Amino acid sequence: MSLRFQPKIDTKTGQVFSAEVLIRWYEPKKHGWVAPDHFIPIAECDGQIIAIGRWVISQSCKTLKYWADNHIGVRALAINLSARQLKDDPEWIDYMLECLTINGLESSQLMFELTETYLIDDFSACEQQLVRLRELGFKLLIDDFGVGYSSLGYLSKLPVDGVKLDKSLITNIESSLAMQSMVRNITRMSHDLNLKVIAEGVETAFQCELIKKLGCDYIQGYYYCKPLEQDDFCRYLDHLNSQGVQ
Ligand code: C2E
Ligand code: CA
Repeated sequence: MSLRFQPKIDTKTGQVFSAEVLIRWYEPKKHGWVAPDHFIPIAECDGQIIAIGRWVISQSCKTLKYWADNHIGVRALAINLSARQLKDDPEWIDYMLECLTINGLESSQLMFELTETYLIDDFSACEQQLVRLRELGFKLLIDDFGVGYSSLGYLSKLPVDGVKLDKSLITNIESSLAMQSMVRNITRMSHDLNLKVIAEGVETAFQCELIKKLGCDYIQGYYYCKPLEQDDFCRYLDHLNSQGVQ
């Protein structure tokens, strides 16, 4: 297993404010690189997601320490959480706190992304953990927002700090006034509720400009860069610092 990092760009400053951690698996005998969409659901079924999830947390903390020691200008990472981690690994928060301490990090340096469907379906089962995470100073984001439930009413009830608009809202946004209106309204409502909005899957300059006009706070997507290995990520930051992001 290895990790990739995809930058999230602040639309106001043009700077990288954090990165999403995305796992990769290389199986040398038969399959080669296996996409997480394929192996994460299997790992969720057979329980291996618990060990994988802990490994992602520990590696992410080591990476943040390495970046701090080497003056790499990104101090926060967003980690994807699987429903099963919260359900079947009740001590994962303590494990994560230990990783933070070992590496001299603060809770403000980790964010967690949880899918919309899970947050709604299993809210009562995970509410205590989510409340504890926020009390400890971690940020929570609703992932893939806009595909599962169209009702926005529950947004005000969930203990979260922001929403990540699903790629499907962005893909055809240039040609769809309906999508533009949805993104504008989700963004307005989220801001009224003091939530940040991240657009993911932004692939073109046109989409990027539109997303900025519609008021989103952060942008992630191939337009800026694909998920990168650690060394390439650091080189990308160097390149941005020398060129400036648009
Ligand atoms: P996700 O959390 O929705 O992650 C976004 C996916 O969109 C990533 O796919 C990313 O590489 C891809 N992406 C980013 N920008 C663009 C773009 O501009 N266009 C397009 N078409 N795609 C873009 P990836 O890396 O294959 O990950 C797939 C899913 O696997 C993730 O979806 C997440 O649910 C899961 N996953 C990845 N890493 C982890 C992990 O460490 N733990 C858990 N539990 N799940 C993970
Ligand atoms: Ca995610």
